[in-house]
Amino acid sequence: MIDAPMSVGPLKRRQTRVMTVRWLDHSVLMGGGAPVVVQSMTNTDTTDAIATAIQVKDLARAGSELVRITVNTPAAAEAVPAIRDQLDRMGVYVPLVGDFHYNGHKLLQQVPGCAQALSKYRINPGNVGAGRRRDDNFARMIEVACRHEKPVRIGVNWGSLDQDLLARLMDVNAARSNPWDAQSVMREALVTSALESAARAESLGLPGNAITLSAKVSNVQDLVAVYRALAARCDYPLHLGLTEAGMGSKGIVASTAGIGVLLQEGIGDTIRVSLTPEPGGDRTREVVVAQEILQTMGLRAFAPLVVACPGCGRTSSTFFQELASSIQSFLREQMPVWRSRYPGVESMQVAVMGCVVNGPGESRHADIGISLPGADEAPVAPVFVDGERTVTLKGERIAEEFQVIVENYVQRRYGAARDMEHA
Ligand code: SF4
Repeated sequence: MIDAPMSVGPLKRRQTRVMTVRWLDHSVLMGGGAPVVVQSMTNTDTTDAIATAIQVKDLARAGSELVRITVNTPAAAEAVPAIRDQLDRMGVYVPLVGDFHYNGHKLLQQVPGCAQALSKYRINPGNVGAGRRRDDNFARMIEVACRHEKPVRIGVNWGSLDQDLLARLMDVNAARSNPWDAQSVMREALVTSALESAARAESLGLPGNAITLSAKVSNVQDLVAVYRALAARCDYPLHLGLTEAGMGSKGIVASTAGIGVLLQEGIGDTIRVSLTPEPGGDRTREVVVAQEILQTMGLRAFAPLVVACPGCGRTSSTFFQELASSIQSFLREQMPVWRSRYPGVESMQVAVMGCVVNGPGESRHADIGISLPGADEAPVAPVFVDGERTVTLKGERIAEEFQVIVENYVQRRYGAARDMEHA
């Protein structure tokens, strides 16, 4: 027997500079031990200012703390101030990040209203031109950022890697006595591109605390390797995310695997889960998944979690799945109001279990839990509150009665916390 408690130790966050992203009085801190920031990106046509503003609002209401929008044409740049105005009129002050490729130097200079309405610019150094033009175009974007006092994300991507840099590193590699494999050279090129671009931005006058870095790849092992190297070689806040993660469970699993490993090592100051939505699917799904990654890792809390068993041959109906799903939806729907009314409720755990095998035990561990009857069990559902069995529900209205018990518990426990705060 090991004579010590089992522990993974505290999640020690990497020390970084602190970046502030602002819109009016609304500020989001990134790095320096601040909570890991959740961000997302719209998929509307930016020239449709109303549709884009509505999607930004939906993403922000779901919990996205920054929202990125595509700025790809003069018409899109012209639409940005209108999007910002519309959001402000709706009371949505989430900072907007402009995503620029190829022509960002022109758009930011030609449409000052766009440069001002955005709170941050994303620049991909692989997509700002080639040779002399690349340096000039990059400098023009940094000059606009300095003039408007906007922070910048230098976001490299393996699909648009600076080809001149890659050729240079391949020459260096060829001269090695033991050349690296092609994948290692590609990883090094991503890291070098991000670091050299950041150094250049600082030499052009952008403060070091106005820079975040990202290096997006679509493979989990590449992601981990590249971000470990970035974390070891700089102290800029890092934006984590797998690019082209994919659809459905594949995208969620791949993103969670890569982001989870890095967060566990203390690496990462903001995350985005790049899910491909189903046709007509809900864009806010990427925000919920990002929140759930952070919450299940114990890094932040956003909404009460429902612990539910998977069900098995002991469950004779879908009733417990329906109850788990309806309670999860109910809790999420309440959060916009509960967040301010019941401080701490976001950390609550609710258990919905399918039979007596693990039901009572798991329900006792949760703040509030219910153990439903399995096949061949008496048709009763004991409810556990703070580890104690309180009532036993039966009949047709178990779901409604359990929801009322949850509501009363929230009011009693977290309402009391608020009242003490205001006493
Ligand atoms: S708690 Fe019961 S119903 Fe749920 S998975 Fe375990 S044995 Fe099956």
